[in-house]
Amino acid sequence: MTREANRSPSSASHATDAPAAEVQTCDVAIVGAGIAGAATAWWLKRLAPQLSVVLLEQDTGFSSASSQRSASSIRQQFSSPVNIRMSQFGLQFLRDAPSLLSIDGEAPALGLTLPGYLYLANASQAHGLRALNTVQRAHDAQIELLSPDALAQRFDWLHCADLALGALGDGVEGWFDGPALHHALLRSARAAGVRLMQATVAGFERDASRPQRIQAVRLANGQRIDCGWAVNAAGAWSRGLAASVGIDLPVHARRRTVFVLSCPVALPRCPLVIDPSGFWFRPEGRGFLFGTTPDPDTDDLPLDPNLAEFDEAMWMQLAHRVPAFEAVRVERAWAGYYEMNLFDHNALLGPHPGFDNLLCITGFSGHGMQQAPAAGRGIAEQILHGRYLSLDLSELSVSRVAQGRRVLEANVIG
Ligand SMILES: Cc1cc2nc3c(=O)[nH]c(=O)nc-3n(C[C@H](O)[C@H](O)[C@H](O)COP(=O)(O)OP(=O)(O)OC[C@H]3O[C@@H](n4cnc5c(N)ncnc54)[C@H](O)[C@@H]3O)c2cc1C
Repeated sequence: MTREANRSPSSASHATDAPAAEVQTCDVAIVGAGIAGAATAWWLKRLAPQLSVVLLEQDTGFSSASSQRSASSIRQQFSSPVNIRMSQFGLQFLRDAPSLLSIDGEAPALGLTLPGYLYLANASQAHGLRALNTVQRAHDAQIELLSPDALAQRFDWLHCADLALGALGDGVEGWFDGPALHHALLRSARAAGVRLMQATVAGFERDASRPQRIQAVRLANGQRIDCGWAVNAAGAWSRGLAASVGIDLPVHARRRTVFVLSCPVALPRCPLVIDPSGFWFRPEGRGFLFGTTPDPDTDDLPLDPNLAEFDEAMWMQLAHRVPAFEAVRVERAWAGYYEMNLFDHNALLGPHPGFDNLLCITGFSGHGMQQAPAAGRGIAEQILHGRYLSLDLSELSVSRVAQGRRVLEANVIG
């Protein structure tokens, strides 16, 4: 997949491995073959090649999957150490991916580009940005603080008069071809023996004699697949799936629109810029991607882009920050769902309390492309060893919801 292809949702379809009817049992059944399910399956087969792993996916064209509708950017400018570490792992995975995910010597082209995220702060926000930088540096995130003069020198296209500070992760943050990573993980997992089935899962089924154990996944056509472990990787749809066994997951489908802009003027060394007012933009191919947080932010809206989000006022704000953007044109737009964890806007990972063999990997709230490699490995470790062996992700446990223990992340991009 080329960089150009990453400008809008891909429709590349995966042929499935066998009719679901042929599969009656497996060690691990993963519901959802987006990047979260694909990464979990990939790690399982890498760490335990003997396991039988089945990915159950309702739409193998992935026409609504967030993993095909993402802006696919990666940053280390988080406030919580666990998020910093997961993205650092994600970056290393992306760097290693050409060898990790190559098949028959053919390496996937992932277009990793690392000019940084540039968080901009006005006078009232500068103190907070400095405090975040202290946390990030303490966790080996190489984020540079830039004065307005330094910003103006480095980015002569940026309007800096109303800025007090910038924070830039040049060389360690940027973006990549997310759909290509998703497809490469799927292909590599399948080459290692993971079976991808086209099937809609209606719900999980408890073991009648041990109700804390999931016995099977039940398909919409009535068929059952017995499993040793079940994983909910259903993204924006994971709440409905969890409800089948009485679990109330706080994950909501929240639509986000991405605009593709063209501009006759180039912006040299342009990073992913986050304006003090909240909108963001970054280069993509010969143009730019742009997004902002919708208000109001409602559940389950149809996946049509909301063109009204780029109105006259937004255009003026954009042109204020980058005068060359006075000449921007909206070429097109697409929308996808954030699988938004309304409890604390962070991933929900690991075993589900009250169950022996049900895990979830969801609720990434806008970070799932960069966090899936680390989260998928964590879920595989939980299945294989009952604990995290490499990165400790227990802070992101599902049980924190019932305990009322929020992971506070100050740097959420709506
Ligand atoms: C506009 C936008 C911009 C984003 N930008 C970034 C970014 O810059 N950086 C970043 O890291 N992340 C970003 N994200 C977030 C990221 O894309 C998601 O967190 C990630 O793709 C979630 O992956 P997933 O596998 O959990 O979900 P999905 O990719 O949605 O996959 C879930 C799959 O489950 C399947 N499914 C659901 N229910 C069932 C069922 N009952 N039976 C069978 N199959 C089922 C669905 O068909 C789907 O294919 C962005 C997201 C959006 C929408």
